Amino acid sequence: MTPPSPHTPPHTPPHIPPPTQPHIHTPTPASLSQSGNSSAPSANTRPGDKSVASQSPRVMPDARRLVVLGSTGSIGVNTLAVAKHLRDAELMDVTVVGIAGGRRADLLIEQARAYEVEAVAIADATQRDTLREALPGVTVFAGEQAAEQLVEHCDATDVMAAVVGSAGLPATMTAIRKGCRIGLANKETLVAAGAIVKPLARQHGVDIIPVDSEHSAIFQCLIGQAKRVIKRIVLTASGGPFRTKSKSDMAEATVEQALNHPTWKMGPKITIDSATMMNKALEVIEAHWLFDLPGEQIEVIVHPQSVIHSFVEFTDHSILAQLGAPDMKTPIQYALTYPDRSSGCSEAMDWSTLTGLAFEPPDFERFPSIKLAYDVIGAVATTGSGDKGSPNQASEVSHSTAGAVFNAANEAAVAAFLEQRIRFGRIVELVADALSAIDLKPATDLETILGADQQARAYVRQQVGASS
Ligand code: MG
Repeated sequence: MTPPSPHTPPHTPPHIPPPTQPHIHTPTPASLSQSGNSSAPSANTRPGDKSVASQSPRVMPDARRLVVLGSTGSIGVNTLAVAKHLRDAELMDVTVVGIAGGRRADLLIEQARAYEVEAVAIADATQRDTLREALPGVTVFAGEQAAEQLVEHCDATDVMAAVVGSAGLPATMTAIRKGCRIGLANKETLVAAGAIVKPLARQHGVDIIPVDSEHSAIFQCLIGQAKRVIKRIVLTASGGPFRTKSKSDMAEATVEQALNHPTWKMGPKITIDSATMMNKALEVIEAHWLFDLPGEQIEVIVHPQSVIHSFVEFTDHSILAQLGAPDMKTPIQYALTYPDRSSGCSEAMDWSTLTGLAFEPPDFERFPSIKLAYDVIGAVATTGSGDKGSPNQASEVSHSTAGAVFNAANEAAVAAFLEQRIRFGRIVELVADALSAIDLKPATDLETILGADQQARAYVRQQVGASS
């Protein structure tokens, strides 16, 4: 009894203009209940009850124009593969119109040719001419603002925000202002700037669809659920390469050991974050912003198999979880096809090889990063702060620059570790030191947030310089 899918493939070859029928999503009770003024609310939604996804999904046009920010990274490469799959299998009329990368001109050129994009951006301004010469007829942006200029230039419907670190923040905000649907793979955007990004998305009626596997899982489990029925959300963590290591062994771990992740194959920054469990700490703060929940309703559990991507416990003690093989193509594709689903190109779960699912509580003693995340959520501005807000209102207590400091100090400390200038155990110590040394301000605008970001990086650089 499968209802007809709105993504029934048009019987036309690929690269042909979209079918004449407008693409209309068949609203499900779930998607209807996300709208506060729906005439057909779900059974557990009362009038005036706010659902977690505050916007009803936008009816997207048939022809989707996708910009991939961070196309040369792991998520970016997978996003391009998913877009190609959806298009080649005639599941979605999606065209990659723009790509942005940091330094890897060779890969950007290869991608630009393969996807016949209209525009390319590279952060490294010295490679402007290399791109221009290799890509005649393609608009090239280069330099620090290149990604923003690309978003400004491309008439995109969808933007995949997959730049690593807070460098991706301004371009993501530009995309929101332009009304693009955001696939959010950059957790730093919300960690550093949730206080301004969430209101901006609301103002522009933009859907932010999480791509992080844990947040995609929770997002999926929460569809059709009112916020008041959530008891807690539980983020699963693989535990990283040092799950079973002692604190003293970890303190002196090498770069090679820290880069050896047991289940997920990712870039160096996020892999180190996984080893410190700073990745989970960032995800706790990301979840706080995405789902508008206080720290007390966000928990972490170590689940080494990474098969359960996260779960939600409701007030009736029912638990909904989302499971799958650890393959980022699944949440990437869901972010593109939401609220619908299409035939996938990711690895499918092989139940015959699965012997068990294990769980253990996180060890805050060996992984103090997670505890710091809750401090960040609860942190209030130490200077220039007015109303501190009610402690139960997630969106009110996190108006400080603590998230920006936390994230930037971590980025700088991870860079210093990868350059072998500090030992592994020093990464989280430096983040904690930065949080206590730097005055927190109310996070009211991008300038203040980026100022806190710069201050935290300078602090860490200075500490690293003093000790090396
Ligand atoms: Mg994750």
